[in-house]
Amino acid sequence: MNLNIENLSKKFGSQQVLSELNLRIKDKHSLVIIGPSGGGKSTLLKVVAGLVSPEDGRIEINGEKINFDEKYLNEYRKTIGVVFQAYNLFPHLSALENIILPLEKVHNLEKKEAYKRAENLLEQFKLTEHKNKKPNQLSGGQQQRVAIIRTLALDSKFLLLDEPTSALDPYLVSEVLDTIMDLRREGRDLILVTHQMSFAKAVGDYLIYVDKGKILEEGHPEEVLNNPKTEELKNFLSKTL
Ligand code: ADP
Ligand code: MG
Repeated sequence: MNLNIENLSKKFGSQQVLSELNLRIKDKHSLVIIGPSGGGKSTLLKVVAGLVSPEDGRIEINGEKINFDEKYLNEYRKTIGVVFQAYNLFPHLSALENIILPLEKVHNLEKKEAYKRAENLLEQFKLTEHKNKKPNQLSGGQQQRVAIIRTLALDSKFLLLDEPTSALDPYLVSEVLDTIMDLRREGRDLILVTHQMSFAKAVGDYLIYVDKGKILEEGHPEEVLNNPKTEELKNFLSKTL
């Protein structure tokens, strides 16, 4: 993916959440975003997903400029897959039905085609035996994997993941991280917010450290994390496991 962000600014009320942020990446598969809580990571992801409109700035993904008017955004959002930290599965539907519903309702796929796609993905991510369970009958890790599959099924150009493991018990984290690594290996384009630095190194082609609405450091994950230059990142890393 190529991503160009120029002078991106966003306020909530009087609070400047993104502050003339700039980013230019070319030919990367995975962008990892790290930074302290409240620094603007989720807001940045939501702007890229077309879910939040900035006051100022421009974003271009693979040469296509995001136009922040409702008509454009409605179509644009269908091309982007987003997974948030709370998995937001429909509680009254089975895992399989959760994956199929948006395919039918939002993307107008025929039932047969939707089933086929869902079954294939459930198989690929070893969830076939759980496909008829409701979310409350699945572990947190399984629920998050269903949420990821649901997004994958939409065949989106990009996958945006906002702290996909933060709501999970530690022993469930690795199965979700493995799933994300598999996607990375398949060559899916990912933008991912994570608190896990070892994972950031393993999965990321490029890393940005976002603090107070700005990118304070960026580059290859190993290089940035092994050799932090700003006091902010040094301080942040000293508090991270
Ligand atoms: P991060 O994901 O890095 O923790 P966020 O992007 O969620 O940071 O939030 C950045 C700041 O913007 C925080 O201070 C948060 O309280 C504020 N904020 C985020 N979303 C909203 C909103 N919808 N309304 C008002 N303030 C918000
Ligand atoms: Mg966040």
